Amino acid sequence: MMWFFDPMYLLFVSPALLLMLWAQAKVKSSYGQGMRVDARLTGAAAARYVLDRSGLNDVGIEEARGFLSDHYDPAHRVLRLSHEVYHTRTATAVGIATHEAGHAIQHASGYMPLVVRNAAVPAARFGPTLFFALFIAGAIFSSMPLMVLGLAAFGGVLFFQVVNLPVEFDASNRAKALLTEYNIVDGEGAIAVRRVLNAAGWTYVAATLQTLLQFLYYAMQIFGVSSDD
Ligand SMILES: [Zn+2]
Repeated sequence: MMWFFDPMYLLFVSPALLLMLWAQAKVKSSYGQGMRVDARLTGAAAARYVLDRSGLNDVGIEEARGFLSDHYDPAHRVLRLSHEVYHTRTATAVGIATHEAGHAIQHASGYMPLVVRNAAVPAARFGPTLFFALFIAGAIFSSMPLMVLGLAAFGGVLFFQVVNLPVEFDASNRAKALLTEYNIVDGEGAIAVRRVLNAAGWTYVAATLQTLLQFLYYAMQIFGVSSDD
């Protein structure tokens, strides 16, 4: 069973791959567009303002290396913003920076989907390795229970990505609302922010869809309903 060289596999996950290509192109174009729309603060200053207004004066903001490397680190309670996002007074910068501040606010307020997502991090991290080990062992020993166990491990990755979706969309919704409420962007800026954050949201949807299709493909392999039977 040469399932990992199966051309059917590529065909099966291709909708997700196409959606991902489309979303990444959208991120690229909206990022560039938003970089040409002015905001009243730099990304770092906007995030600082939003955090302070939420009583999170103790959450730090640092500059990170790498394009689109922006993230919130819950272990150290610090926002790490890429060079462009940190320093420029643009819709793109304040949109991304405030999205990350939104994660810090979720963290501080015990936002339930984030709690579940963080609890699922080990499942996402070790799921793929566990899956391959159990799947190959299951194939070698012709053991259905081992393969099903492997599939369950892969399901952990899917679970993580699914619960991550509301976390990402909520952080973006918070960013859109706060930037307008605090008058950090005007009407044109708000549209540019929405474009960037929605495009980023689609990349998470595409990645989740890809994992779902992989999961279904492996399930079909294990339960013997593949098309080349
Ligand atoms: Zn996010």
